[in-house]
Amino acid sequence: MPFHEDELDEIESSHLQRLTAAEADGDERAVEAALRPRTLDEVVGQARVRAQLGLVLEAARQRGRVPDHVLLSGPPGLGKTTLAMIIAAEMSSPLRLTSGPAITHAGDLASILSGLNEGDVLFVDEIHRMSRPAEEMLYMAMEDFRVDVVIGKGPGATSIPLEIPPFTLVGATTRAGLLPGPLRDRFGFTGHLEFYEPDELELIVRRSAGLLGVELAEGGADGTGGAGEIASRSRGTPRIANRLLRRVRDYAQVHADGLVTRPLAAAALDLYEVDPLGLDRLDRAVLDVLCRRFGGGPVGVSTLAVAVGEERETVEEVAEPFLVRNGFLARTPRGRIATPAAWEHLGLRAPGPTYGDEGLFDE
Ligand code: ADP
Repeated sequence: MPFHEDELDEIESSHLQRLTAAEADGDERAVEAALRPRTLDEVVGQARVRAQLGLVLEAARQRGRVPDHVLLSGPPGLGKTTLAMIIAAEMSSPLRLTSGPAITHAGDLASILSGLNEGDVLFVDEIHRMSRPAEEMLYMAMEDFRVDVVIGKGPGATSIPLEIPPFTLVGATTRAGLLPGPLRDRFGFTGHLEFYEPDELELIVRRSAGLLGVELAEGGADGTGGAGEIASRSRGTPRIANRLLRRVRDYAQVHADGLVTRPLAAAALDLYEVDPLGLDRLDRAVLDVLCRRFGGGPVGVSTLAVAVGEERETVEEVAEPFLVRNGFLARTPRGRIATPAAWEHLGLRAPGPTYGDEGLFDE
């Protein structure tokens, strides 16, 4: 499948094997297809986007028109592709899938657009990675349902206008900030997807378990069973929750009678080195080196990377975003600093007042 292939090449294989990666592995897309919600009502969480999108679709249905173009932005694994598929399904329209990196020439886009029928939904994943000439062609197609196709080269080149039947573009991006203003402005509706709360992830795990035939034990002392344990280790991301569920299922099948209890889920995920807050081996290695070897920082990211035996980019792009978002690590002009939460998570005592420590501001 050409979809995403070039992106996969860019990500080193070590990242692909990470259980906590938010991006999908090549084979994973097939497994995921079975777990995708099919209607807006089946979507868990994202209440605001769901309500807004529901309104856009209902209004279009009532007017008998195609819905406005939709932009979905947010980190990987939160449901952008799923929502694009739902938009098509709710409008009973066919969905065409492509991705920004696959559209290297304006001609690639022209041939996709000229193949559309009225009402089709065109999904362009990673839309910020489309080539500039294709982007300019897309402006016109979105606004006027028309493109100018250039035939020939040099002074003899002529441009032929081509009508395109009204369609709905659904663009997805992990980097809304990289999208040029003129493109962003042509979307009638933009939905920002947020990380999920643990109780929402728990519902997603329950739903997926039902579809996969995994038996979850109900409630422990705190009222949550195996699903709660998986949810709390899933970094706010449904894709990771579904992946962890599959690993826990394997463990339950081999080591138990298949029933996923909370202790069993915890043991399985400990084995895979995903800790109770969702940190993996690399995340913990970064914090460990930062606290134990560098006294909590500040230390430069290159030094940190050498100390954990990884490339600088891996530490910066793979480990840090999650650690920063969850308040374990701070980026400062002088380098990286461990927060009190990092020391606590490692079971260590912070040496004196550290960054973000309330004690620092006493008196
Ligand atoms: P993205 O396109 O943002 O990377 P996807 O739409 O491919 O994410 O979703 C990844 C996986 O997570 C899919 O298997 C999908 O079933 C699941 N998923 C995402 N969002 C939800 C949700 N709100 N409810 C249930 N499952 C979800």
